[in-house]
Amino acid sequence: MGDISKKSAGTIRTVVQWCFMFWVVGIGIRFGLFVNSVENGSAVPLISRPPGVEGFLPIGALTSLKHWLVSGEIHPVHPAALVIFLAILLMSLLAKKSFCSWLCPVGTLSEGVYKLGRRLFGRNFRIWRGLDLFLRSIKYLLLLLFVKFILLGMSAEAVEKFLDAPYWAVSDVKMLHFFTHMSGTTLVVLALLTILSVFYKMFWCRYLCPYGALLGLASMLSPFKIRRDASVCTGCRRCTAACPSALEVHSCTEIYSPECTGCLTCVAECPERNVLAMRPAFWTQPLPVWVFPATVVFLFMAAIGAGMISGHWHSSLSYTDYQRLIPIMQNLSH
Ligand code: SF4
Ligand code: SF4
Repeated sequence: MGDISKKSAGTIRTVVQWCFMFWVVGIGIRFGLFVNSVENGSAVPLISRPPGVEGFLPIGALTSLKHWLVSGEIHPVHPAALVIFLAILLMSLLAKKSFCSWLCPVGTLSEGVYKLGRRLFGRNFRIWRGLDLFLRSIKYLLLLLFVKFILLGMSAEAVEKFLDAPYWAVSDVKMLHFFTHMSGTTLVVLALLTILSVFYKMFWCRYLCPYGALLGLASMLSPFKIRRDASVCTGCRRCTAACPSALEVHSCTEIYSPECTGCLTCVAECPERNVLAMRPAFWTQPLPVWVFPATVVFLFMAAIGAGMISGHWHSSLSYTDYQRLIPIMQNLSH
């Protein structure tokens, strides 16, 4: 990989991240217009409901996964939630935790915020190593709770009851209202997380995101890994200094860590040729810089496409269902 093409890894990632961000914002606006149609009493929706909005329902997706595993069927109410969940999991199994650094809108915003912090203070800060380790365990504990209470703890009947309930049917609308009608507590928590992210790189992702924890564990199986040729490495440590996940890249020959998001920042920063690369173990030659991004985008699109083609994308709910449920939404419990 030549130096210019290595540097372009960052540009490619920025383009992919912001294209995805605009796509997600577009989905949010479309869904908002759809819900507005219902709330304004319109007989027909102004615009059709975008199934992609179900990507914001990861806990429901986990419940849906359990339903799929025990019954062999994908529940029809919000099938896209499970399809998107599986697409992201597949990406992690094959191409590191790439969803976090290439597609996730929260990751994109977190990155923007820590770069702002670097501009303001000339650097980002590091949390004391012991405390950092403790804080990093929080996201795994949260993941453990979800696995315990949903994947292991819920019976097949309880899962079925949850997915058939009106509460799950309007969970997408509840999520929309979470963003459009933020409570004071939510605003304070978000402001606190943003401030912390100014000082500490990827605060939410590094310490608190249980979704990222799951993807990180899955990513340890990924054939793609950052690999360093120690025989030609000069030990300059520029890779380590640049890594947003604070990994000691300069001292590893392969990065197995669940914290590695496959962002390629270390590769772009390495001043030497063919020392550091994201590649599978079986591929010893240098790979063009576009291969990993293309793999990431392809895996996501292919998995979503498979969901669509197999008929597991559009919700079984009709506009009439939303007209019936949204007015009584506040009284619904799961
Ligand atoms: S090791 Fe490289 S690819 Fe992995 S998170 Fe750090 S900078 Fe990104
Ligand atoms: S930036 Fe490249 S040369 Fe420097 S320590 Fe890292 S891998 Fe070695």
